Amino acid sequence: MLNSDIIKKMKTYAKDNNVPIMTDGGMHYLLRYIKQNKIKNILEVGTAIGYSAIMMCGVADDIKVTTIERDEKRYLEAIKNIKKTQLEDRIHLIYNDALNVKVEEKYDLIFIDAAKAQNRKFFERFERNLVPNGTIITDNMNFHGLVDKDVEDISSRNLRQLVKKIKEYRVFLENNREYETDFLDTGDGMAVSVKK
Ligand code: SAH
Ligand code: MG
Repeated sequence: MLNSDIIKKMKTYAKDNNVPIMTDGGMHYLLRYIKQNKIKNILEVGTAIGYSAIMMCGVADDIKVTTIERDEKRYLEAIKNIKKTQLEDRIHLIYNDALNVKVEEKYDLIFIDAAKAQNRKFFERFERNLVPNGTIITDNMNFHGLVDKDVEDISSRNLRQLVKKIKEYRVFLENNREYETDFLDTGDGMAVSVKK
């Protein structure tokens, strides 16, 4: 069992330092999916401070997570948290830009939760690491409700570009015949793509 005090502290740290960790709703769904589908080997793109990786390991003792983070401060914080929860043997943390990382293993689940404009690149880079019938889950598909807005109503240019990218990624998933994708409003919106 995970120490709830450590989890609480991670959440407080995330709030105080503007680290966008998963919402409780999204987390709840993800953990249930892992349990119901007996997922054992997970690749996560976007560790932040290790919160979601640690939570996923909490589902069962034989779950392993490989997770990638490019921000040094967050990576260092993740190392600390993984040590505190004694999950060093089960969480493999890679400090690099995911677009430079090559992994050889196969995973039952690939969880994409990094730079939202790069979702398609992450998807295409790592799908060869998915087991047959594996799942790719992408977080923040609604991006705080902005994706359902008319892009003209979004004042910042960067944000408009980002929302456009997320919409394009959605179309990419919808048109991808190799996967069956469900779009959920859970948490901040999640895409669940199951390989046919
Ligand atoms: N999954 C975490 C939250 C991740 S926040 C949780 O729920 O607990 C997204 C993280 O992705 C950020 O820390 C950011 O630094 C990282 N990131 C963004 N683009 C990346 C990339 N190309 N490679 C590696 N990490 C990336
Ligand atoms: Mg997220």
